[in-house]
Amino acid sequence: MTKYKLEYIWLDGYTPTPNLRGKTQVKEFAEFPTLEQLPLWGFDGSSTMQAEGKSSDCVLKPVAVYPDPARTNGALVLCEVMMPDGVTPHPSNTRATVQDDDGAWFGFEQEYFLYKDGRPLGFPEHGYPAPQGPYYTGVGYKNVGNIARQIVEEHLDLCLAAGINHEGINAEVAKGQWEFQIFGKGSKKAADEIWLARYLLERLTEKYCVDVEYHCKPLGDTDWNGSGMHCNFSTSFMREAGGKDYFEALMDAFAEARADHIAVYGPDNHLRLTGKHETASIHVFSYGVADRGASIRVPHSFVNNGYRGYLEDRRPNSQGDPYQIASRVLKTISDVPTFSEKKAAA
Ligand code: ADP
Ligand code: MN
Ligand code: MN
Ligand code: MN
Repeated sequence: MTKYKLEYIWLDGYTPTPNLRGKTQVKEFAEFPTLEQLPLWGFDGSSTMQAEGKSSDCVLKPVAVYPDPARTNGALVLCEVMMPDGVTPHPSNTRATVQDDDGAWFGFEQEYFLYKDGRPLGFPEHGYPAPQGPYYTGVGYKNVGNIARQIVEEHLDLCLAAGINHEGINAEVAKGQWEFQIFGKGSKKAADEIWLARYLLERLTEKYCVDVEYHCKPLGDTDWNGSGMHCNFSTSFMREAGGKDYFEALMDAFAEARADHIAVYGPDNHLRLTGKHETASIHVFSYGVADRGASIRVPHSFVNNGYRGYLEDRRPNSQGDPYQIASRVLKTISDVPTFSEKKAAA
């Protein structure tokens, strides 16, 4: 038997943005535990905005398990928060009600700032560094400093070693700003891995005395970019059948549901979706081929392939909850009948 360090990870009840929480229990297993072998566990919900003081127990239900590459015999145990009965999802548990479908693929582009001493890494104590331009995909000390790359590389390795479907990294437009991409088949799978990747990044940066700033517009109304979490999505039907008529019906449905999407695309998004800095206005829905100023960017490959493939919703922001984002995208898609559904109805 081996003693495993099980890090139970969950989302707390803070609004509008939950924080990641985690605590360790040590348990013996013959080999790396499966999900089924992992017991429910409890925590004090009154300390996480998830319960009143008098009756404060909440239940952690393991829903995904990954190796924890930073620890010997470690496991990352992603949990849903349940009521004391162990079966009713807690109101803060957005994962429990996610619309899901294995054929729906999601690629999230998580942008964020690295912060030190209350300002982006590389910013001088007073004023600003040289304006945006050379930082995006930049190289060299004056562009990316000396520890940022070490952090993002280490994070990439941790994610890959954990089995997270990490797809890439790049330095972003603002100084101190970075991005990583996670791809998953199914909304839960993709969103689980975004939350775990966020967790690994926050835990990793502790030792560098650096914070991760996920707010979508940390530098306010200035000439510095905000942070998004573009949501690239495709369903089996979009990849295999698609077509111009279906695409146009889909875009009508997205236009119709604009406000419902914005409602779950992350807090303070009006500060970011201004129409400047490669964003569309929060107030209108637009789409365009290769258009980085549109709500939805349609890749050239999509049009060239007979309106088949994936689309990029550029509106979700860096602090958004990927469960709710993916679920909302799927809901709007499911409101649009496919040809076979239309035929069946006729
Ligand atoms: P850009 O910065 O140009 O917007 P990225 O390369 O950062 O693009 O991100 C593109 C994302 O699209 C990746 O996360 C990738 O996984 C995702 N993606 C690619 N093909 C599909 C697909 N068929 N369905 C869903 N997402 C996809
Ligand atoms: Mn990108
Ligand atoms: Mn980006
Ligand atoms: Mn993008």
